[in-house]
Formats: sequence, structure tokens, C-alpha cells
Amino acid sequence: MSHVPSITLNNGVEIPQFGFGVFQIGPDQTVDAVRIAFEAGYRHIDTAQGYRNEEGVGQAVRESGLSRDEVFVTTKLANGRQGYDEAMTAFDESLQRLGLDHVDLFLIHWPQPGKDLYVETWKAFEKIASDGRARSIGVSNFQIPHLERLAAETGTVPAVNQIELHPMLPQADLRAYHREHGIATEAWSPIGQGGDLLRDDRLVGLGEKYGKSPAQIVLRWHVQLGNIVFPKSVTPSRIRENIDVFDVELSDDDMATIAELDSGTRLGPDPDRFG
Ligand code: NAD
Repeated sequence: MSHVPSITLNNGVEIPQFGFGVFQIGPDQTVDAVRIAFEAGYRHIDTAQGYRNEEGVGQAVRESGLSRDEVFVTTKLANGRQGYDEAMTAFDESLQRLGLDHVDLFLIHWPQPGKDLYVETWKAFEKIASDGRARSIGVSNFQIPHLERLAAETGTVPAVNQIELHPMLPQADLRAYHREHGIATEAWSPIGQGGDLLRDDRLVGLGEKYGKSPAQIVLRWHVQLGNIVFPKSVTPSRIRENIDVFDVELSDDDMATIAELDSGTRLGPDPDRFG
């Protein structure tokens, strides 16, 4: 069983640094995948309204035998549900699908600056948090100007910003901004969606040196940078492999070798344009 450290968010809530992402896990596969993740030691699940598998996540939580406060559940507002009233209604629907009376973290999924609704939406999030129905609130895919606007126009600094982040896109500017403002960094597609990144000779070589797979080397790199990660897999052996990164420590030189993989490559959409 892995010993996953926790990170304390800016409101005092503790989040397990390592979790399980369920994007693209079908509704019928979700209960089993999350159950296997719990058995492997995961205690943090990252879902979203848009993933259409909140029911399965909630069912797996209820069937796990774990007490509610041992599990950290994140969900995200669907892109079509921004605006104060819509966000409130959509949040109620999430709790119903999850079968829970609160979530641990609720995120605005994408800023969609063209719609200009994220500030109003954030005010609904503040209300949801003050009612105790989300223990923490945060954002996803926000760029620095979006974060600055929230800071200027609202009273709550997001607890996290969940952004695309992997060795090909290490997001130095956003990470520095987050550090300065007390926002935790969550890394999505942390292993580059399992693509070419994991075949890079340098990662393969580091894997041989440490007795780990390239995916584990990249996940350990995230952990040492202080990022919160939740790789996705439906393959039981990979679910177990991915979290097994707490018995090695990459040297500074090896961290620097991984930093060489920065190519500015985005695998997902550009947050300034998306939506
Ligand atoms: P990921 O980097 O976690 O890669 C997952 C893929 O890598 C799997 O589908 C599988 O093909 C492969 N893989 C998994 N384990 C492996 C291993 N040990 N060895 C080799 N290949 C392996 O990508 P992701 O699913 O896009 O991101 C993880 C989570 O981040 C998602 O499930 C979701 O929770 C979150 N996410 C959020 C956003 C957002 O906009 N906020 C966007 C994408 C993903």
C-alpha cells in the first residue's frame, strides 16, 4: 500500500497529492476501475460532469467501505452550465448523481473567456463553499489573466488550478504564479496521455536506473515538483503501477534531465480559445 502525502490547500483542507482520474472511463467501467484504485491505495478521485460517470464514482465510494472523510472527491462544472443560477442547479445535479451530500473540491472546468461568465460562476461557487456543500473550490485551465480577474473581482482565491502539465509542457509561469498566490497546482494528462513521451530514451534510461517504468518516472517528477496528479488507466496492473512511486527519489540531475523534455507541446485545447 502506497503512502501518499497530502497537500494543505489555502483554506486548510488536505488533499491527497496522488489521485485517480476517470476521464474517458465509460459509465459501465467506472465502478470497477475506482474500486481497483481504492484497493491499490488511491483515496482521491477526479471526475467531472462532462465525463458522464459521476454515478459510478459515487457508487464506488459508497461500496468501498471507506468512510466519507477518507476519500477526496473532485467534480467539475460542465462548460454549458456557467452562470450563477445554472451553476447552482448543475451542482445540485452532481450531488444527486454522486449520491453524496458534499464534494471535496468543485472546479470551473474551463474559463471560456469568450462567454465572459466565469466571474459570475465563481460567485455561485463561493456560495456553495460557504454552505459547506463543497469543502473547497477551484478552477481548471485558467490562465494568469483569468486568475487575476478573479482576484480583482471576487473575494476568494481558488484552492487549485488544474492545468495541462507534463514534461513537454511544464507550465513554469503558471506554477510560479500559483506559488506566489497560494494556489495548488493540479496536473492533468500528467503522463502525456500515455503517448510518445513515455518512449523517450531519457525516460526509458531513468526507468532502468531507478527500477521504474517511464510512466512512474514522470509521475515521481510531478510529486517532487509538488504537483497534484491523478493519472487515468482502466488496466488494473497500470492502476497499481502508477501510484507505486513513493519508494524512490529522483536526483537533482535527473530532475534536470526531465526538464529537457520541455517542447511547449499542448495535447489539449488552448484555454484562451476553448469554448
Ligand atoms: P494521462 O496522462 O493520465 O494518460 C492516461 C493514458 O495513459 C491512459 O489512457 C493509458 O492509455 C495510458 N497509461 C496509463 N497508465 C500507463 C502506464 N503506467 N504506462 C503506460 N501508459 C499508461 O491522461 P488523462 O487521462 O488525459 O489525464 C488524467 C486525468 O486528468 C483525467 O482522467 C482527468 O481526471 C483529468 N483531466 C482533466 C482535464 C481538464 O480539462 N481539467 C483534461 C484532461 C484530463
